[in-house]
Amino acid sequence: MDPVGTYLAEILAAISPLAPRELSLADAAGSVLAADVTAGHLLPPFDNSAMDGYAVHAADTAGAAPGAPVTLPVTAQAPAGDTTPRTLAPGTAIKIMTGALLPAGADAVVPVEDTDGGERTGTEQVAIRAAVAPGAAVRRAGGDARPGDLLLPAGTRVGPVQLGLLAAAGHGSVLARPRPRVTVISTGNELAEPGAALVPGQIWESNSWMLAAAARQAGCDARRLASVADDKSAVLDTVKQAAAESDLLVTTGGVSMGGEHDVVKAALSRLGTVTFRKVAMQPGMPQGFGLVGDDRVPIFTLPGNPVSAFVSFRLFVLPAIGILQKNKSATSRPPVRAQLTGPLRSPAGKRSYLRAVLDHEAGTVAPVSGQQSHQLAALARANALIVVPEPVTELGAGRTVDVLELP
Ligand code: AMP
Ligand code: MG
Repeated sequence: MDPVGTYLAEILAAISPLAPRELSLADAAGSVLAADVTAGHLLPPFDNSAMDGYAVHAADTAGAAPGAPVTLPVTAQAPAGDTTPRTLAPGTAIKIMTGALLPAGADAVVPVEDTDGGERTGTEQVAIRAAVAPGAAVRRAGGDARPGDLLLPAGTRVGPVQLGLLAAAGHGSVLARPRPRVTVISTGNELAEPGAALVPGQIWESNSWMLAAAARQAGCDARRLASVADDKSAVLDTVKQAAAESDLLVTTGGVSMGGEHDVVKAALSRLGTVTFRKVAMQPGMPQGFGLVGDDRVPIFTLPGNPVSAFVSFRLFVLPAIGILQKNKSATSRPPVRAQLTGPLRSPAGKRSYLRAVLDHEAGTVAPVSGQQSHQLAALARANALIVVPEPVTELGAGRTVDVLELP
């Protein structure tokens, strides 16, 4: 049996990051920047109004108060998007909207709330009821960023706000590592699509739904395929086809020690570099990994039991996804420490991952009941895995343990 750490290190050494590409904004969400992004322009690009109101020379409002308004003639209207250059003559005002180009000469905006809104004289005059200081309600060009400023460093994952900033800074595309394309393939004659009627001997297929969603949560463009029968050539054809369209493949089932029925093992032993091992862990002992197809696409052949498949995904596939995007931090969170609320047992010689509820505030972790590898309902009640080292066979309440949080 291979130790978990050795197996993981081998996997990570075999995987290379995806090549960066120039991605349009439409494809950039979830990508990871391959180069620093700097501002090419002033942001905002021009002096503009922060409020709806009146552009003025601040000095013209001196002494204005509710009981002693200053009345100025209104010479023009400047809505947002009006690109007409205007100049404000001393002793006058220009009605201005938020985001509109500030007239030359104006150095402040009086908010409409501090005026009569020109209510008595229409658009011709405005009574100003409060004095403003120079710069009031003015957004200066470059106040957010200036040309050459670092906006987003290489390695940044493009989330919603980062995408918004790229757009605001005028970048129509960006050099980044795209969201990895992940395909999840489940195998098994017993598998039926959820929603379909079952006959005894069949179960509803769950792994591909779960793992495609987990890959999506990790930033991938993930899809599942309808499950493949336990047939060597069907498995081989599906894997070859998917490899041509994916950056990473995951299969589930068909890798245990059952001989002729383990079709994934039988089919892939002859393809690329896929090798099969026993890893000293529970759940999830039978594992396979390799590179397939002309593009040497990483493939993980995970065990079929849903809890084994999920734990294996968390331990081996998530860090691999991080490497594809050179975004290690997003996918490999270190364990936290917590105190056991009750005793537990663990097999000698295997690292076990027990399903548990972590209470962050209390600093405690409680194993859930139902620790077998088919018990998906128990996994769904858990938010964490307790990691029990290989030599340890039991631990009492109160002991401090390593805990992996589940995504
Ligand atoms: P295997 O690894 O193919 O021997 O499968 C081990 C166990 O996991 C069996 O009980 C299978 O029925 C179950 N299993 C395999 N694949 C899936 C799947 N995609 N969804 C739910 N259960 C599965
Ligand atoms: Mg099977």
